[in-house]
Amino acid sequence: MLSLGLNTLAQKITYHLKIENPHRNCFDIQIEYLCNEEKYLDFILPAWRPGSLAITDWSKNVFRVTVQTEKGEKLIVKKIDKQTWRVDCKPGDKVVFSYKVYSYTMGDPYDAHVESDYAFYNGPQVFMFLDKKQSFPIEVEFEYPKDWQFHTALTKKISENKYEASDYDELIDCPSFFGKLNKFSFEVSGIPHYIVLNAGYDYNQNQITTDLSKLVAWFKSLFGELPYDNYTFFLRVDESGRGAIEHRNSNISCIKPNGLLGNLEDPEYYKFFIMTESHEFFHLYNVKRIRPTEYANTDFRKEYYSDLLWFVEGFTDYYTDRPLSNAGIISSSKVLNRYIDYNYNPVFNNAFISEKSLAEFSFDAWLRDSAIPDNTHRVCYYKGGLVARILDIDMRLKTNHTKTLDGFFRLLYDDIYKKGNTFNSAQLLNLLNNYSGFNYSTFFDKYIYGTDPVPFQEYLNKIGLELKADKEQAFLGVKLSNEIKSESNVLFVYPDSPADKLGIGRGDIILTINGIAVNHENWESLLKDIDKGSEIELTWSHNKNIRTGRIRIEEKRAGSFSIARMEDISKDQEEFIKKWMDP
Ligand SMILES: [Zn+2]
Repeated sequence: MLSLGLNTLAQKITYHLKIENPHRNCFDIQIEYLCNEEKYLDFILPAWRPGSLAITDWSKNVFRVTVQTEKGEKLIVKKIDKQTWRVDCKPGDKVVFSYKVYSYTMGDPYDAHVESDYAFYNGPQVFMFLDKKQSFPIEVEFEYPKDWQFHTALTKKISENKYEASDYDELIDCPSFFGKLNKFSFEVSGIPHYIVLNAGYDYNQNQITTDLSKLVAWFKSLFGELPYDNYTFFLRVDESGRGAIEHRNSNISCIKPNGLLGNLEDPEYYKFFIMTESHEFFHLYNVKRIRPTEYANTDFRKEYYSDLLWFVEGFTDYYTDRPLSNAGIISSSKVLNRYIDYNYNPVFNNAFISEKSLAEFSFDAWLRDSAIPDNTHRVCYYKGGLVARILDIDMRLKTNHTKTLDGFFRLLYDDIYKKGNTFNSAQLLNLLNNYSGFNYSTFFDKYIYGTDPVPFQEYLNKIGLELKADKEQAFLGVKLSNEIKSESNVLFVYPDSPADKLGIGRGDIILTINGIAVNHENWESLLKDIDKGSEIELTWSHNKNIRTGRIRIEEKRAGSFSIARMEDISKDQEEFIKKWMDP
């Protein structure tokens, strides 16, 4: 327990985080505040966490709330909504507010977590704030099992395990890891960068430090500085999944056990790790510092609304892969392949893509788990990423690489962030027009506020690249559910397609095509062999009633695409790709 006992420091709020019996999966938190004029204090746990537009209501994991004064007098506490505890107090009371947060990852793998060997937290899930006192300075002390190690992104150390944060925002933006940890570091321009992971997994320290230092140096040359005293790559190594979340001088990434072995040829693992780090590292500039206005003025009790998620995430997606080629870590062909696998094919295969604009997908990002197939905020990542790519190609083509998206981000950093400014979407367009010398209003109207298809193919053709159609197959107009693989369960039917004309709907099961039983496995190969113009017979079941119908196949369509250099690529085009991608 912390006790300063000095009235002159009364404005400081002190926090104490304890991990005792980690196998019970709890953080014990204590908050102390000296009551001045207040008749009551509201202690609130955020409903969401920065970096993810989702209401997680972590207050559902809070229990055993007790409040007393420093002298041990019980104070009255009443819960007034799902996340707020109101404590009656009188001037001079040193209020000691205690609670437990059960922390065991159920959803996103970067959620707060405590288990036998290690623990970590994402601040908004464990630390409550005092209403109207988020700007007050904070002191926080950590207590954990004796044989454990500890690493925090907080930088102002007062004494062993005791740190300062200038306000609540800084406290919750700095995660900590505890437990049996592996830790190593490298420096770029004299600034330390730490890699911290839960112990027990193999990792290629040499490869990781070599690649991450190249990456950090590339971003430093782009923005002119590394705006922190130190940076931590927190890695949660776990089978459970993927995901990462950005902070201003750290990030938490969830990596599968093979992800740290340093093999770039393994598409599943190390390459994914290094791309994740590139994405999260770019966020320390884009969104943690270069910020839309709506992201800068938020209330942790409820959602905030912005039409710029496509810029925050889609434009960051563009910096997930290309910097790795520019920094000499992976080849440009690997980068170009990701443009297709991660961006183009998901856009092409999204059944709902033409129903909402990127601005609308951004605004609606808080609405998770829509019943409508493919109606997801993830569109802001992959379609927003396509828009970033064609915008950069467009500026580079028009100016022979003198105006680029890199240059635009440098301008936003120098002229907006460093001057204490933020922007909305209209101001962003103005800034882009002023920077580039071109008018991108129509471009925004089509691809940001409208639903025009992003002309990625055309832009690739301009620089000597092309898309090749793969898996060409008879277009039936059916998208199968990926959740039920044992049968051909219909997720979505495209309007006016052959399946639509037969009256096939969601949840129906396609049983046979031309008498041959179908399932997920043979679906593509069966459709591949059907000629355009031929008539097919389908049987399907709806609520166990079997139906049959005949329909003509009017077209064949690609199932996906891959990227290739055009056979007649010119020297200028080759040169363009080099300037764009090479170190
Ligand atoms: Zn992101």
